[in-house]
Amino acid sequence: MKMKYTLYSFLFILIALCNSCQVKKPVDTTEAKVYKTENIMVLVVDGPRYSETWGDSTHRYIPHMANDLAKSGIICSNFYNDGFTYTSSGHAALCTGYKQQLENTKGSQLPDYPSYFQYYLKKTNKPASDAWIITSKDKLAMLANCNDAEWKDKYNPSINCGNNGQGSGYRNDLKTFQEIKNVLSADHPHMLLVNFKEPDGAGHANDWNKYLKGIVETDSLVWEIWKYIQTDIYYKDKTTLFVTNDHGRHLDGWKDGFVSHGDDCEGCRHINLFAYGPDFKSGIILDKTYAQVDLTATIAELAGLKMPYGQGKVIKELFK
Ligand SMILES: [Zn+2]
Ligand SMILES: [Zn+2]
Repeated sequence: MKMKYTLYSFLFILIALCNSCQVKKPVDTTEAKVYKTENIMVLVVDGPRYSETWGDSTHRYIPHMANDLAKSGIICSNFYNDGFTYTSSGHAALCTGYKQQLENTKGSQLPDYPSYFQYYLKKTNKPASDAWIITSKDKLAMLANCNDAEWKDKYNPSINCGNNGQGSGYRNDLKTFQEIKNVLSADHPHMLLVNFKEPDGAGHANDWNKYLKGIVETDSLVWEIWKYIQTDIYYKDKTTLFVTNDHGRHLDGWKDGFVSHGDDCEGCRHINLFAYGPDFKSGIILDKTYAQVDLTATIAELAGLKMPYGQGKVIKELFK
């Protein structure tokens, strides 16, 4: 009996010892995986409805996305702005991973929490020229900063917004495209977020034809940037590209229809997401429901960033 007891004690000590020998390093899931992605670009087309883009089975207004880009990446057919469906908040949700109501006219209110740009520049110790926010709308300059006391005025990315920064008014998307090419060729940034102001501008002007033209033109600008990635030594085979929207617009027959947006109707909430990159699958349509803050979580995963205020979850189905 005593012998048996001693044997049990011995086994118990042995198991305890084995447990203590096991790796005690904290498991850091954001650092654990190695991805091929070195650069991340997010292109935000401002305010098209799903019904004139992927929701239209002919895809007549997004020919490049449908015929040239879709096969190289993943189309997410149930992607949503599930927060506040206007420009400042939609973009801030994408950058910070946090849904917040923000002043939307002048860009006078900063997001409460830091963006992935700030986390990235802090982590890598790179200069501001390595991360750019380039937008047709001047008010989006506010995306570069936040109110959090630990982060305000620190690790801010470079900005190139509107005619000449905050308060200077909106500029043409073609001019923005030119600025993007200039910055990519001069600075080769690893992080880039773009806003094209159309088709939102033409929608608010109640100009249906110009609204459609805005979708067609931004589709061709997205195509130009995709081709740039394929041919540039700094970007080819190591760049992840997301093409998405800040919000949609009201459904036909609801309020003033395509002219406005800002509530929780399906037209305002249902938006596009195309994801392309060396770590992602290609040629598939993902119909699982995701939202803007999930895109931020996915960017953080790719870049190895921890974003404690983020409300989203990684879109795992994108990955190979
Ligand atoms: Zn708008
Ligand atoms: Zn609506």
